[in-house]
Amino acid sequence: MLERRATTDRRLSRRLEERRLRSIIEQLADGIVIVGADGVIRFANPAAEQLFARSAQSLEGTEFGFAIAGGGPVEIDVVRPGGQTLTAELRVVEAVWEGEPARLVSIRDVTDRRRAEERARQVERERAARAEAEAANRAKSEFLATMSHELRTPLNAVIGYAQLLDLGIGGTLAPEQQRQVERIAASGRHLLGLVNELLDLAKVDAGRLAVHIAPAPAGAASEAAATLIQPIAEARGVLLTATSVDDGAVHYQGDEDRVRQILVNLLTNAVKFTDGGGHVSLEYGQSTGPAPEARLPDGGVWTYFRVTDNGIGIPADQLARIFEPFVQARSGRTRPNDGSGLGLAISRRLARLMHGDITVRSTVGKGSAFTLWLPAAKPDARGPARRHGTPKRAASPLHGLADIGEILMRELASLLEVFVTRLRAECPTPGAAGLKFSQLADHVASYVADLAGMLIVLEETDGQPSSVLVDATDIHRLVASRHGAQRARLRWTDEAIHCEYRILSEEIERVVRQRGAAIGAPAVDEALAVVTRLLTQAEETSLRAFARAAGTDEGRQPAGDPP
Ligand code: ADP
Repeated sequence: MLERRATTDRRLSRRLEERRLRSIIEQLADGIVIVGADGVIRFANPAAEQLFARSAQSLEGTEFGFAIAGGGPVEIDVVRPGGQTLTAELRVVEAVWEGEPARLVSIRDVTDRRRAEERARQVERERAARAEAEAANRAKSEFLATMSHELRTPLNAVIGYAQLLDLGIGGTLAPEQQRQVERIAASGRHLLGLVNELLDLAKVDAGRLAVHIAPAPAGAASEAAATLIQPIAEARGVLLTATSVDDGAVHYQGDEDRVRQILVNLLTNAVKFTDGGGHVSLEYGQSTGPAPEARLPDGGVWTYFRVTDNGIGIPADQLARIFEPFVQARSGRTRPNDGSGLGLAISRRLARLMHGDITVRSTVGKGSAFTLWLPAAKPDARGPARRHGTPKRAASPLHGLADIGEILMRELASLLEVFVTRLRAECPTPGAAGLKFSQLADHVASYVADLAGMLIVLEETDGQPSSVLVDATDIHRLVASRHGAQRARLRWTDEAIHCEYRILSEEIERVVRQRGAAIGAPAVDEALAVVTRLLTQAEETSLRAFARAAGTDEGRQPAGDPP
């Protein structure tokens, strides 16, 4: 009797305990299921119902279905009746349920946590991939920059030698040969332009293109760019106007050379994509409200240069893409344009390097307007001694050499005319009167052209020894030695050659001083000093070749190869 009572008491207290446990479990936020030793669910709390998206009734009495062992948490995928999948974490503890051994399984939905972790891993993977891509891109740009540099050297030689042939150094060419040589030189120049653009692009991308930012007047940049493009516009029958909205007060903060390069690019395009009879204008000014699409910081004053044309225009869907390298818009023209598709890519990168940007508005059939935005600068920021309207490069001691080279190239014909006239009148040249103009001028023509080219190269390479310069020097020496040999065949004297070089030197000086006045006296003096050194070298080479050829003529031993 007593024993039965005790058993009943135990049962009662166990039931009470179970009820308490059940009510605790029902409150828990984690899903809890009690699984019997046979693997069948005995009980599921409301959180478990929610997690499995099934009622407790439908869960209880079914197989739990997941391997459950005691110990550390296990992750499982729960598929809800609708097909939705959750990630859950299981923990198992041994328990007694309704007097029998069972397992209490707690189930926590960790889907959000897993997603967040996966997102973090993804972000990290993307960051690593980006870093890798950037490193690869830098390596590519480095490679391009090196390659472009290496390509320029032989290309310059190709162009140089083609020019020599063109000038008749190796003998007079038949008309067909002349045309072929001209094509070699023209293709070489085209290729060189492309290589130079690639080099620029690679340098910007590799972060190796330095810009020298300083306050500069907008009027000078506008004038310089328009002057360069004017002949091309005229040749195409396009009217080019450059208008300013101020009296020299508008300045910008940027690199003068690069700004001119961008404006030349924009003007070249505008002229190229506008038919004869059309109009291209370049204007500049200041604004506090740049185009909203410009990638510029808010606020501040901006100096803008706007190139507007009434040409073919650009389809709206291609407006953003034309700033990508190698992209040319489908213009509807049957013949693709002969550009490289690099000009705008370089221009925009340069603009951004100077903390500005380029924007475009265009309507097909009506025309386009490209605007270069740069931070405005105060006019007085540069001090009173500021040069106005002259191209920069004062930082280099070789400043102005390239401009003087250009002058010599342009004035070559008239310089030769005067040179030959004076040569006939002033030098003791036997039989000069009976010689043709071409016989007196041919080597000198090539020589002056090469000399002009060397001046340009000297400035471009900042006076550093470069393979381009070496090639130019080879050509220079070759011309001088042919010159000496030819004068020997004409039975001239040392004195006559000396007289020739003196006249050449005087005439070059006259042309450079006359035409190069705008470049400034120091630059002209520096250029003339270089010219004098080159002429002295050439005269020595000519005289050596002369002596050798004259000696051979008289049956003596040759004096050896010219250096
Ligand atoms: P390129 O002129 O060498 O082809 P750019 O990068 O300078 O390369 O220009 C890219 C393309 O943008 C051009 O090929 C042309 O399709 C288009 N484009 C540029 N400027 C103009 C313009 N003013 N009018 C019409 N199309 C233009």
